[in-house]
Amino acid sequence: MDRLVLATAADSTVRLIAAVTSETVSEAVRRHGTSPTASAAMGRMLTGAALMGASLKDFDRLTAKIECTGPIGGIIAEANEKGHVRGYVKNPDVELPAKTNGKFDVSGIIGEGTFYIIRESGFDIGLHREPYVGSVPIVSGEIAEDFAYYLAKSEQIPSAVLLGVLLQNSEPFVTAAGGVMVQMMPGVNEHIVTMIEDTIAHVPHLTSVIKEGATPEELIRLALGDIKFEILEEREVQFRCNCSMERALSMIAALGSQEVRSMLDEDNGAVMTCGFCSEIYQLSGDDLREILAVES
Ligand code: ZN
Repeated sequence: MDRLVLATAADSTVRLIAAVTSETVSEAVRRHGTSPTASAAMGRMLTGAALMGASLKDFDRLTAKIECTGPIGGIIAEANEKGHVRGYVKNPDVELPAKTNGKFDVSGIIGEGTFYIIRESGFDIGLHREPYVGSVPIVSGEIAEDFAYYLAKSEQIPSAVLLGVLLQNSEPFVTAAGGVMVQMMPGVNEHIVTMIEDTIAHVPHLTSVIKEGATPEELIRLALGDIKFEILEEREVQFRCNCSMERALSMIAALGSQEVRSMLDEDNGAVMTCGFCSEIYQLSGDDLREILAVES
């Protein structure tokens, strides 16, 4: 199971979140059948959402969303406080040639647009508060830099964010995925900031160390160099959607009896695909008749 770790350093003036998300991203790629570049984009967004979700208190669900002009069309990644992550891209088949340095052209498939963070709370106690929505223009399209820019601009938390996804041509498609978020809190010593910036500038590719078996704790060690840190919390991370047959039935019921009756007459059933996880729900004629019986 993938793991995420929260840590603190320099008298709590530096907050760190690190995760290995190889299985989580593999599952997302398997479910959505994304192209290599779309997989890299989706995997970075899912990992960033998991990191950012873990660092925020007083919320049930965090959504990171990109709306863009590039051919991928948009990306959504959601994380909740249990470490469940789900998400998708609008156009999973889109592909571009690799960049001259051999890397996926993630910024090429994203293009220009807006990066959003949406926080929702109150679900668990049946109290739906207004979601908190923050947004910034996409500055890089490589995603890690966009998370960092959002944190600095919208939440006044200067941050360094590293996100990586390494792919292979056969199952499970994702060789390694993970990320680290370093957040500088108010009162942080400038000398510490410089040391961390310098360390991060020379850090090896995250995915190559994750491929060799690095843990989230080791990713934090890489980001901090010689600075000591303390682990505050750890949790499991997994790709997990909250859709179910029950929800599929209630969504069909919400379409109204006229619509349900025409599904029954025309197809003697209905098929629903969850956008977040590509799970397919087949509703039989009997299912539809039951909905109509309850409604009437
Ligand atoms: Zn689902």
